[in-house]
Amino acid sequence: MSDIVIGVLALQGDVREHLVALAAAGAVARPVRRPEELAEVDGLVLPGGESTTISKLAVLFGLMEPLRARVQGGMPVYGTCAGMILLADKILDPRSGQETVGGVDMIVRRNAFGRQNESFEAAVEVRGVEGGPVHGVFIRAPWVESAGAGAEVIAEHDGHIVAVRQGNALATSFHPELTGDHRVHGLFVDMARGYKAAGPL
Ligand code: GLN
Repeated sequence: MSDIVIGVLALQGDVREHLVALAAAGAVARPVRRPEELAEVDGLVLPGGESTTISKLAVLFGLMEPLRARVQGGMPVYGTCAGMILLADKILDPRSGQETVGGVDMIVRRNAFGRQNESFEAAVEVRGVEGGPVHGVFIRAPWVESAGAGAEVIAEHDGHIVAVRQGNALATSFHPELTGDHRVHGLFVDMARGYKAAGPL
């Protein structure tokens, strides 16, 4: 039994792991590939993967503008890793043709922690997540070079910002969907429930 429907943008990346984590956190989880599917969800996860590929596919599938419109309209959205990059208002080092959905007042640096073989795991304390640090899995992860006044920094690692919240948008450099610990997805599902309960303005 669940009253909340959360989509996972399913163009590329670790979609299945997010669907599992969202279901474990109490949501009805569905893949989203088309604008009509986007229109039906109460919230959306932008998964990890490759941000340039996801952005190009979003344009190709006619999803970029609808995504921007829904995020600007206040739809709860959670981006992990490549998904964090997609939520940034600005990328420090974009590849050519790389667009973002935007919505979070931050500048991100792609691959900031190094190459694929420098991927690592670390305990990360996340504000708003009870019960001790989460296990952060960083895979060619970005960090937030700077967060604007509207964005609340909720986690740091080694002096770098790795999680941010702004209104209904949440972004992490790391991948909670890969750990079996569903507390961050739980936080997001709670955000989406709160938004839905408040109803249309
Ligand atoms: N480095 C990737 C990018 O730039 C993100 C990696 C990830 O999502 N694990 O999109």
